[in-house]
Amino acid sequence: MPEAAQVRSFIDDAVRWRRTGDEAFLLRLIRSSCSGVPHDVGAAYATLAGRTGDLLDAIDRGRLALPPPERDSVLLFVRRARLVCALPEDLPEDTLRNAIASTFVLRQAQDDKRQAQDDREYVTLSVSKGDGREKEIELAEPVEPEEAGGVPRWQKHFSASALNAYTECARKWFYRYACAAVEDPGSSASAYGTAFHLALEDFHGDFPRPRGADRLAMRNRVRECVTWAFERNRDGFETRVEFELQVRRAQRTAQRYVDWLLAQELEAPFEVLGREVSAELDLDGRAFVGFIDRLDRDERTGTVGVVDYKTGSIATSAAEYCEKVRRFRDFQLPFYYWARTAAGDRVSKLVLIPLKDALLDVRPVVLEVGKTIKLDDLERSREKMIELSTLLASGEIRRFEPTKNAAACTYCAYQTACANKPPAEAQRFGS
Ligand code: SF4
Repeated sequence: MPEAAQVRSFIDDAVRWRRTGDEAFLLRLIRSSCSGVPHDVGAAYATLAGRTGDLLDAIDRGRLALPPPERDSVLLFVRRARLVCALPEDLPEDTLRNAIASTFVLRQAQDDKRQAQDDREYVTLSVSKGDGREKEIELAEPVEPEEAGGVPRWQKHFSASALNAYTECARKWFYRYACAAVEDPGSSASAYGTAFHLALEDFHGDFPRPRGADRLAMRNRVRECVTWAFERNRDGFETRVEFELQVRRAQRTAQRYVDWLLAQELEAPFEVLGREVSAELDLDGRAFVGFIDRLDRDERTGTVGVVDYKTGSIATSAAEYCEKVRRFRDFQLPFYYWARTAAGDRVSKLVLIPLKDALLDVRPVVLEVGKTIKLDDLERSREKMIELSTLLASGEIRRFEPTKNAAACTYCAYQTACANKPPAEAQRFGS
């Protein structure tokens, strides 16, 4: 409870602000213990507004990401400040002081009668209407925040990447899929991935069956495909230098990819059946959709291999990826498996091809169905997809919790809006 002297000083500043409009008095108000705003939050906003020049506007815009209780306190401060601002200009000094005290729910020892009115949570002022009559203004307390409700039922299709987002961070799913919040405009990493996928899609249109005899032609063609695909995605790179560097990186990686194709062809000849193949699956009435980067047919067994290109960080071994599947952290390859199985294919392997590092040979992560990855794990993954999609379609989730894993926040596009994200991981320094 603020002391009488603090209350008096706060009201003095409020009166001066009301009379002069000088922002300096408003900044003193929010830093005061009478403001209802925690001191560190008030000081932070006062510092920010000292630079930008408009405290109330800065709060309206949510310029500081705050946890809900602190955010509510600054919003309440704004409402009260605006009520004071709206008071008639010709109020006598005593009436103005009492109105300010009432608005900020402050007790002035010398004004018991007015305080009784504060306890009833409103103040009534007599205001001249200019025609000799008087009207009454009631200053009401702010309404209580609305009770949280569930988000609307999810009525669109599902995808493995949406479920991956949900299991990584439910709050991220909420921002991206339920709110359709504005995403970041993309990065050079995403432009690199888009261009590389496009280049390989074109390349395999010309070379569905890698053969050693075509080595030189394959090398030349993949170079052309990379050049063309990156030109088409040039706008995704911020600077010309960045663009040139990423093209060189892609050209080196593409040559290593050709090396791997030819080695693979010697080991187990295959044919590329499809590129960017649509994958559709009905799971208990829920439609799942996606696209498979490449679909291969093993020429010896006739079985099908599902291939996913990865230009970002991925599991470094089959065991690591299988563990992610078992822990329901990744649904991509299980979804492709079930989609192609439902389409009538006999899927024998699921492959991730890392295309991130131009300095390393291409070493795919290969999951042989029934051996490296067990059918039971694929079945459990399928059941989990049904469970999660049913939950997300129910419209009954009342709270989407932020992740506890700070690493998931590192590249999250919603960091600024996300008030409850976990504290950042400690910085690591090399010796
Ligand atoms: S910042 Fe972190 S907690 Fe917040 S939505 Fe993104 S990943 Fe989730």
